[in-house]
Amino acid sequence: MMAALKSSGCEIDIRRHISCEMCDTSVTGGYDPELNQIVVCQNTAPSKGLVQGVLSHEMIHMFDYCRNYMDVNNIDHLACTEIRAANLCHCSFLSAWVQGHASPFNVKEAHQNCVKDKAIKSVLAVRRVSENVARAAVMRVFDKCYNDLEPIGRRLRRNSMDMQKAYMEGPLYGYSD
Ligand SMILES: [Zn+2]
Repeated sequence: MMAALKSSGCEIDIRRHISCEMCDTSVTGGYDPELNQIVVCQNTAPSKGLVQGVLSHEMIHMFDYCRNYMDVNNIDHLACTEIRAANLCHCSFLSAWVQGHASPFNVKEAHQNCVKDKAIKSVLAVRRVSENVARAAVMRVFDKCYNDLEPIGRRLRRNSMDMQKAYMEGPLYGYSD
């Protein structure tokens, strides 16, 4: 992910672009497009797995903001980046991590429902709109954004965790694409 950001001209500097803060207990992290900074909540994301989940989710937003000229005031754009973050990270990856072997996400429809639910919740977490408005925005852009798998190129699946972890951590050790 960091290599993808770099090759899109959005190189990430851990000291500049990632900050650890105390947050509201309802969130584990966020992306601030004004500062182009990812916030990891040190009080609500205490485990390594959670921090990795927050980072990969928020890096999708950073990537979209950098590459796709995202307009954060446009609820369709917001819905799209939340669909992508849920699709690429949360639903196949963090959930499998947390839920272990009881993962229902190998079923395509369950996966799509997970992405929809998660994206709607994420939109509601950053925007004061009704659930109907959030749901309508997610449904409007769902097909287009669900099928956009850049920059990871595939949904991260539970059974390939080790390979994906290596891929994601690669840039930390100086590897890049
Ligand atoms: Zn998000």
